[in-house]
Amino acid sequence: MKITDLKAITLGRVSIIRIDTDEGIYGYGEAHCPKQQVIPLKRFILGEDPTNVEKVMKKIRFRGAFKPFGSQISAIEIALWDIAGKAAGLPVCKLLGGKVRDKVRVYCDCGAGVLWDPDDPTSAYSPEAYAEKARRRMKMPQGFTILKFDIGFHGSHGGQLLSVHGGSYEAEDLYPTKGHVTERGLKAEIACVEAIKDVLGDKIGLAVDCGPGQSLPSAIKLAKALEPFNLLWAEDLLTGDYTPYTDPEAYRILTSSTVTPILTGEQIYLRHGFRDLIEQHAVDIVAPDICDVGGLAEAKWIAEFADLYGLLIAPHNVGLPIVFMANVHAAAAMPQNFIAFEFHSVDIPWWEDIVKGLEKPMIKDGFVNVPDSPGLGIELNEKVMRKHLSEGEKYFE
Ligand SMILES: [Mg+2]
Repeated sequence: MKITDLKAITLGRVSIIRIDTDEGIYGYGEAHCPKQQVIPLKRFILGEDPTNVEKVMKKIRFRGAFKPFGSQISAIEIALWDIAGKAAGLPVCKLLGGKVRDKVRVYCDCGAGVLWDPDDPTSAYSPEAYAEKARRRMKMPQGFTILKFDIGFHGSHGGQLLSVHGGSYEAEDLYPTKGHVTERGLKAEIACVEAIKDVLGDKIGLAVDCGPGQSLPSAIKLAKALEPFNLLWAEDLLTGDYTPYTDPEAYRILTSSTVTPILTGEQIYLRHGFRDLIEQHAVDIVAPDICDVGGLAEAKWIAEFADLYGLLIAPHNVGLPIVFMANVHAAAAMPQNFIAFEFHSVDIPWWEDIVKGLEKPMIKDGFVNVPDSPGLGIELNEKVMRKHLSEGEKYFE
């Protein structure tokens, strides 16, 4: 089998790619970058046998980097596995070692609180706004068992902390930002978590995303102050989203100073970027994004390596159903250090309509069933896809 073409279409900020072969089998991938970043890779993979996934990846892997420059590489890796699965007549998870679990836990990203006043972005950052969002998310038909909220500087307009007058030094209304937190700011962060926990109790797991990040002393104070709330994790307290490096030394100090589990990793490219974090026990949980780290087999490898050192994994994900299913297959084959992967699209009504061939609704009781159909197990719904294509886009032409 030989690769004959690589095409991409744009939906908002997402590029969906399709790799075609001379045997009529094709594979889908998803990149979170402009398609102009993906298409130039075509000349390196044309004529290659797509079922030799690693051999093809060796030709392009060095052309990626930390987020957002690993996405085009990751998309191709996902599409190659889709083809390899279809060619073998097996679901992708079987090519990764098989199912450790039949259904995979998904957690729900909630963002900030409810936006009470559309003209005032800071209205989403009051404890009451967070509590109301928690109430609404608990009632979602997907039945999520874990919710994640943004606090600190994570989010638009400098996040929750910048909405607090005198809450921080040096942070700016620019994403990503970072700063040192005042006593007033720290109290406001704690108040938001307290309000959410009052709603969730111990029925639903709670994680917070603080990405990225805070000064090391602020991060230590916050993580320690949040210990009574038994969080599942505190994310990106020091570095994270769009940080072009990791900081294992600082993370090691933070993690060893608190029992609040510390998580990072969504911007990291390749297993090598996780090596120091894992070997030094610099965090408790790693969070590679399959769409940025170099693909689904890369994430599976990181899960194995983390497990060897007693670390957990909770993959980051903000994607459409293509990369969502790549996550399902990778997670199905991960060891028991897997917690859940992220679902970021609860407010997009057409989200699951763009694919066919799967059980729907895709998320039930907080889990996704792992399909047995070959490859990723999805086909695109062309009619729905056409409705959401960016202006001027043609459908894989
Ligand atoms: Mg994050």
